[in-house]
Amino acid sequence: MIVNIPLSFEYRKTTAQWDQSSAHITGWARRTDGTVDGGALVAEITTRGLIHSVKFPRKRLPEGEWDSLWLMAYANADVERLLSVYEPLLLVPWGSVYADPQELKKHSQPADPWQLREEFLRLEPTPKSAIAFLNEWGRWNSEEFVEMTEIVKLQQAIRDAVTAEPDRWFASDYSLPMNWRRSPVYPFFEVLTDKIEVALRMSVTVDLLEKAEFKTCVRPDCGQPFKVASKHDKKFCSRACAHIEAVRRSRRTAISKRVK
Ligand SMILES: [Zn+2]
Repeated sequence: MIVNIPLSFEYRKTTAQWDQSSAHITGWARRTDGTVDGGALVAEITTRGLIHSVKFPRKRLPEGEWDSLWLMAYANADVERLLSVYEPLLLVPWGSVYADPQELKKHSQPADPWQLREEFLRLEPTPKSAIAFLNEWGRWNSEEFVEMTEIVKLQQAIRDAVTAEPDRWFASDYSLPMNWRRSPVYPFFEVLTDKIEVALRMSVTVDLLEKAEFKTCVRPDCGQPFKVASKHDKKFCSRACAHIEAVRRSRRTAISKRVK
C-alpha cells in the first residue's frame, strides 16, 4: 500500500553573515563526566579575532588518513601534533538562530527553494563564491560551521540525482531531511526551514518523486541541469545562455559568409 501524505514545505531566508576560517584540532572531546569521547575532537576556530572551541566529529576527518588515531594518540598534545597538518577550510555563520517556528517566521522572509537550487548549482566551488551565496540565502544547517567540501559534495549529488541517478539519491541520507513538524492546520505536517541544506534536499526529493524531467543546457561552457517546466522544447537553462549561443551562431554565420 502506498499512501500520499500531504506536507507543506516552506523555506524562508534569515540573515547570516559568513566568514572564512580554518579549524585547528586541539585534542579529544570529553563527555560531561570528563572521560574522553572517542567519536569527537575539539577544534579551535578563529573568526573576527575571536577564538572559539567547537566539537569536531571524528568522521569529518578525511577517510583513511587518521583511522587509527585512537591508537596513535591518547593525550591531547599528541592529537594536536598529529593533526597539525590538517586545517580544513570552514565557513562560519554569524547571526541569530530561531528555533521557535513563530520566531522564525517573524525574523525571516519567504524565499523560493527552486530558485535557491538553481543558484546553488551555478555556484563556483570557491570560498569567495560560497560566502557570497550564503550571505544572500542565510543559514546552511544547524551546525556551527560548514566545510567547503560538504557544499561541493551536495552540489555534485544534486547534479547526479537530476541528470543520471535518482535511485542513488533515494538511497542516500540526502533524500530525507528530518525536519517534519506537526501543524494545527491542514495539511497538518510541515517542513518549515531557514536551512539552505534542508531546502535544497527537499526540493530534489520533491522533484524526483514527482518524476520531473531535467535536461542539461546545450551551451557547451554551461552544462547546467535544469527542470523542464513545459512541453516546449527548451535547450538552454536560461535566457542568458540562449542569447549567448544565438550571438555566437550569428557570428559564426557572418564569418563563414565572409570566407565565401
Ligand atoms: Zn546554460
